[in-house]
Amino acid sequence: MGEGAILAKCGVAHRSVSWPEGVRCRNRGRGGPVLSGGRAATGAMLKALFRQGGRSTMLELRPSCEHCDKPLPPDSTEARICSFECTFCADCVAHVLQGVCPNCGAGFVPRPIRLASGGVADNDLAHYPASSKRVFKPVDPLRHAALLAQRKASA
Ligand SMILES: [Zn+2]
Ligand SMILES: [Zn+2]
Repeated sequence: MGEGAILAKCGVAHRSVSWPEGVRCRNRGRGGPVLSGGRAATGAMLKALFRQGGRSTMLELRPSCEHCDKPLPPDSTEARICSFECTFCADCVAHVLQGVCPNCGAGFVPRPIRLASGGVADNDLAHYPASSKRVFKPVDPLRHAALLAQRKASA
């Protein structure tokens, strides 16, 4: 872990902020984020760390299929995602998209389940809720057919 890395975090910030990758809470219930050396982290320090560490460390768990709008709750075994987390139901991936994401052109994997509660170190839906932001962007069949043909030709 580099200089100034956050070694501990807890409380309200724990719940409302996405932390850089690799950061773990080791100081639960004792106030705000703490840097190596035990100093409290300032807002500017945190912002810098966030820029370095990237944005979210977890999936959004979008609520529905982008094509047919079918609900895909966090415990659904039918949700499929691409590496950008474009989210579709298994039916649409198999029969409409033929395994190809219309937004990035790559493939899908089953979306993992996040526990509702009782997750290790509070890593569960109660502390990291699923997204409620619905993405509904039905696929244009002609455009998708063209994408599939293009991929076949270059395969
Ligand atoms: Zn669907
Ligand atoms: Zn995609």
